[in-house]
Amino acid sequence: MSVDVDAGANLQTIQENIRKAEMAAGRASGTTKLIAVSKTQDADAIRAVLAAGHRLFGENRVQEAASKWPELKAEFSEAELHLIGPLQTNKVKQAVALFDTIQTVDRPKLAKAIAAEIDRAGKSVSCFIQVNIGEEDQKAGVAPRDADAFISACRQDFNLPVTGLMCIPPAEEEPAPYFALLAKIAARNGLTEISMGMSADYEVAIAFGATLVRVGTAIFGPRRTTPE
Ligand SMILES: *Cc1c(COP(=O)(O)O)cnc(C)c1O
Repeated sequence: MSVDVDAGANLQTIQENIRKAEMAAGRASGTTKLIAVSKTQDADAIRAVLAAGHRLFGENRVQEAASKWPELKAEFSEAELHLIGPLQTNKVKQAVALFDTIQTVDRPKLAKAIAAEIDRAGKSVSCFIQVNIGEEDQKAGVAPRDADAFISACRQDFNLPVTGLMCIPPAEEEPAPYFALLAKIAARNGLTEISMGMSADYEVAIAFGATLVRVGTAIFGPRRTTPE
């Protein structure tokens, strides 16, 4: 290991910041869950965070998660894993087997494939819809104006267990208006889980109602490889 990172200490600091942000927003303590984003980190780095007592993790690639997590889940059976990166339909079977929540449902073909696989495998997997909140060409997700129709299609046509929304705001902009918009779309669709906020802006996301924040580098330090 080249970088000397105390993930346990980082984790504690972030949990404290989360509690403070909840309090500042007038929210009940413990209403925001921390997803430790472990993409590019090796099994030993992840094990250190598991050993510190953390159980909720996110990965953005199915293949990479499949190479690390079956073993880690065998060691730490209560570990919970969220998929936070794009999913191709040919990897749905593997994703349903590996993940407890898929946060990146963004098209009918994918929604249909996940619903069918959940049914076939008899495994319960929570699904979030990814919203392309800044309407950026390079980002995945359903456009904000199409979100309501897509959410109801997932529920009614595909019988998919949709429980939340996820977004990644434009990198170079003030995230607050985007967080506010995602929370508004969630509220009007009766969705209680809101996944938004990363290392640089999780406290802002909490002020706008995030129930899950996704933090990578602030816990693990720099990424080990280039993820994209
Ligand atoms: C990598 C990643 C994160 C974590 O980013 P950091 O800036 O390292 O906290 C959060 N969400 C998604 C979708 C990611 O791909």
